[in-house]
Amino acid sequence: MPYSYDTDNIFAKILRGEIPNDTVLETEHSLAFNDIRPQAPIHVLVIPKGAYVSYDDFASNASDAEILDYTRAIAKVCEMKGVAAEGFRMISNAGAHGVQEVPHLHVHILGGRGLGRMLERG
Ligand code: AMP
Repeated sequence: MPYSYDTDNIFAKILRGEIPNDTVLETEHSLAFNDIRPQAPIHVLVIPKGAYVSYDDFASNASDAEILDYTRAIAKVCEMKGVAAEGFRMISNAGAHGVQEVPHLHVHILGGRGLGRMLERG
């Protein structure tokens, strides 16, 4: 069941206003907020407001308006955080092999320091 959505996941609770978040940007279909356990000086999560588990779920099933909004929200966050000049990394973990902790689509935007190689063996 790769696309079954758990409405009790923590980002669904954030979207319902049940728990707080440190908002960076909110648009019609997307929300960006600072990661609670930042792994770099800049570590922002960008999520769609719709109930999508992963990027492939979103890209397959979201409306054109949602996809446009989400893509532009990611760009806006990069602009707001000024990461384009020195570079940044975008990560979207999915499923067991991707070690996805929260089963609501999120893109991590990491920057503010050199981030090392993408993957370490192990
Ligand atoms: P992932 O392993 O890709 O699913 O990453 C989930 C991310 O969500 C981790 O980097 C967590 O630190 C982050 N996270 C979990 N709970 C919260 C929260 N309440 N607010 C902000 N970030 C969170």
